[in-house]
Amino acid sequence: MTRRIFVAGHRGMVGSALVRLLQSSPGVELVTRTHAQLDLCNQAAVRDFFASERLDEVYLAAARVGGIHANNSFPADFIYENLMVEANVIQAAFAAGVHKLLFLGSSCIYPRMAEQPMREDALLTGALESTNEPYAIAKIAGIKLCESFNRQHGTDYRSVMPTNLYGPGDNFHLENSHVIPAMMRRFYEAKQRGDSQVTVWGTGTPMREFLHVDDMAAASVFVMDLPRKAIEAYSTAMQSHINVGTGVDCTIRELAETMATVVGFEGELHFDASMPDGTPRKLMDVSRLLALGWSATTSLEIGLADTFAWFTANADDAR
Ligand code: GDP
Repeated sequence: MTRRIFVAGHRGMVGSALVRLLQSSPGVELVTRTHAQLDLCNQAAVRDFFASERLDEVYLAAARVGGIHANNSFPADFIYENLMVEANVIQAAFAAGVHKLLFLGSSCIYPRMAEQPMREDALLTGALESTNEPYAIAKIAGIKLCESFNRQHGTDYRSVMPTNLYGPGDNFHLENSHVIPAMMRRFYEAKQRGDSQVTVWGTGTPMREFLHVDDMAAASVFVMDLPRKAIEAYSTAMQSHINVGTGVDCTIRELAETMATVVGFEGELHFDASMPDGTPRKLMDVSRLLALGWSATTSLEIGLADTFAWFTANADDAR
């Protein structure tokens, strides 16, 4: 039997990785819409789309995302657009009888000072990191929407919380993107110009965990396809989200050193401490996902090399 699967946000980094994976899966009929075809912030348009498409499953990978600087500069966009997309898609999916949905969140839902590595039950136990609090609040609302629909209506809406993602299709904007693509571009351009030094934001001491987007897509499909009983053995009705990461982190300085090797930049690293560091450390506890039977396979070196190959092939039109 064919399953009709809607990937919301299929042009984004995660959505396009999901499409690459799902389009080679037998018995899957993919449904996608560009932003111009369907504005997910438009409640009536989303309702009409779901009413006419007879979908079986939804991957909710559409979101307004960005790095520390973008979150600080556009907080209203981050909270408003994410809340609207989640509320519209989840409610319309339910109203159209879609029983299965996977919501993609973020590790920034956890308190700034959460014990490391961060377990799923750290959610709502403390204050959030202020630089991305509006985005995090929207993502927490997405988890709670899924759980609330499940509790009230018996749906099977699941949530996965990825650590920092990177890979082909990322946003390589110098100021507004996340650390890996921004750093990759800055190092690449410094190498092209023959600069003797390149700037890295912050002190270099914060620690981050990074997951290649193809691993994220694989984990998402894995979680979506698990029997409900398996999920319920590791979660409760009001705490159902599952962390997705590698379980390994590194300092921003170590990332910069690996990046220099991958890109072939041989100059010096200059750490600009006037730029924000953000959360001191952000490492996922992935024991729930491991127990369910999934673990990441792409190392940071391999993943960065793969991303750099994509970036250089697409440098002209990389966002
Ligand atoms: P975060 O994980 O939410 O804090 O978001 P980012 O990916 O934007 O930043 C992660 C860390 O990398 C922070 O400590 C930044 O200061 C540091 N960083 C170093 N260089 C850069 C850069 O060029 N761009 C970004 N976005 N972050 C950088």
